Amino acid sequence: MSTAATRPTADAAPTSAPASARTGAGELFQLLRDGVPRTRAELAKSTGLARSTIAARVDDLMRMGLITPVADAVSTGGRPPSQFALNPAAKVVIAADIGASHATVAITDLTGAVLAEHEEALDVAVGPVQVLTWLVDNATALLEATGRGSGHVAAIGIGLPGPVEHSTGQPVNPPIMPGWDRFDVPAWMQQHLHVPVLVDNDVNIMALGERAAAWPGTDHFMFVKIATGIGCGIISGGALQRGAQGIAGDIGHVRVARGADVPCHCGNLGCLEALASGPAIARSLAARGLEAATGGDVVELVTRGNLDAIQAVRQAGRDVGEVLTASVSLMNPSVIAIGGSMARIGEHLIAGVREVVYTRSMPLATKYLSIVQSAAADRAAILGASMLAVEHALSPEGVSGGFRLGAPAGGRRPSERALA
Ligand SMILES: [Zn+2]
Repeated sequence: MSTAATRPTADAAPTSAPASARTGAGELFQLLRDGVPRTRAELAKSTGLARSTIAARVDDLMRMGLITPVADAVSTGGRPPSQFALNPAAKVVIAADIGASHATVAITDLTGAVLAEHEEALDVAVGPVQVLTWLVDNATALLEATGRGSGHVAAIGIGLPGPVEHSTGQPVNPPIMPGWDRFDVPAWMQQHLHVPVLVDNDVNIMALGERAAAWPGTDHFMFVKIATGIGCGIISGGALQRGAQGIAGDIGHVRVARGADVPCHCGNLGCLEALASGPAIARSLAARGLEAATGGDVVELVTRGNLDAIQAVRQAGRDVGEVLTASVSLMNPSVIAIGGSMARIGEHLIAGVREVVYTRSMPLATKYLSIVQSAAADRAAILGASMLAVEHALSPEGVSGGFRLGAPAGGRRPSERALA
């Protein structure tokens, strides 16, 4: 079953490169990504490039179909249009959100608007070949449904429920993904679809999706997922921060004070995840005689107004806040968005987070800090997978490569190499 839907227009922060560094068609295109029509003169002023250079680059981008002329507000009587804007329909991307037990694939335009989408129950533990075959088959069907061929695809963005080494696109020791360890996802995908393939973990793509949906232009941003596990996606200086091995933001195994002797599945004691994840809260409630086995049961109890459950959730929020207080000191974000299935509880959880972060952080760090519930909610991941692909496709390297199939621009990461 596929559905067609329109999603909010999304865009990422403008490039922070200095004007002098913007020299190619790709850099110029970054300026136009916000969809605001601009004239050649405005582009010349913003980039510091000569009018003649701008004219040549505008011609390049128009030839590639990435920008289109926009009629002037004031008619110039027969003169050619002087303003240009992004053409979001020039290309599409394939976005995939592979969860533990569900998978979603979508075709979006270059703003992240969903053109077609398909979701179904799929156990990631069946292994990479079966899951990725499902992905290729359904993406191909959706492309046909939208009247697009594989030649219209600019890039593929995939989110996986485990650690991913971003430089290679390979999952590394993913705990719930048997058979996926070191599987070369980009190489396998490119045997079927000859475009750049970007792979990242689910929390990172949710951070991209949440920012695009609700906080465009926010350069210092954290997205915290609280569900069966707890993790965090970090955007700093406008860019997603993955760290050396791709596990930056793995806050679930930071120790919290009250957890002294609570064992965690990782082998340590007192991890945040062992105290504040959905199953952990359920365990603490079950120990007090309530019927709770899963995070969903906890949500249900809170929704029914059960006081024990509300208190347990608030305490879990404080535990998350304890770890985030250290993160706030390290990263100085302006927004922390709380998402994941437990965030459906809403204010009880977030109140606990705020209680600790606002009282324990330095005043300057919290003066303009917003701690909010995820606005994109269950759309964050698929939108983020789209943004992962779009940001690559529209990056200076992606644009300069001209979207030529199997002919990536120089200096690309290994995860984007084409086999063709
Ligand atoms: Zn642990």
